[in-house]
Amino acid sequence: MKFCNQCGGTLVQRIPEGDNRPRFVCDHCTTVHYQNPRIVAGCLPVWGSQVLLCRRAIEPRRGYWTLPAGFMENGETLEQAARRETLEEACAELRDLELYMLFDLPHIDQVYMFFRGALTEPTFAPGSESLEVRLFEQADIPWSELAFPTIGRTLECYFSDREQQAFPVRNEAVDALRAKRQRA
Ligand SMILES: [Zn+2]
Repeated sequence: MKFCNQCGGTLVQRIPEGDNRPRFVCDHCTTVHYQNPRIVAGCLPVWGSQVLLCRRAIEPRRGYWTLPAGFMENGETLEQAARRETLEEACAELRDLELYMLFDLPHIDQVYMFFRGALTEPTFAPGSESLEVRLFEQADIPWSELAFPTIGRTLECYFSDREQQAFPVRNEAVDALRAKRQRA
């Protein structure tokens, strides 16, 4: 960040009075430009014993399988964001959404939040950000071709929780090391 989006002035990095960490501050209009983690909202769509995955048409990780997810927009709720992403990427609609996985990714300043939900009907198609969308049985999940560690972990938890028919909300941190290892 170089310039103030309020007045166009040049920004400097310093600790504002009463604060405890460096911020981008505009010395011209005194605006402090806070930077905070971004929220990614997504879904784990389920149809019977199968789960829906999308093959990414965009970078990063083009060609790898993922769950429909994306950055939350201003003015929408978390659930609306998750539904919108599922519609955009998989042309699919869901019912009975339940919050399921919360991932902290402090190394990239993001928080991922996934819902579980059943497809209203088994109709879906690739949206503009997907090459392919399809249902997978547990035995057919392309574990080595998943786009991100959060996707693998969500599926792992789901299949394990499904055996108990109990789906507690989980909050886990994905550290940089684990992310690197799983991508390698
Ligand atoms: Zn300014």
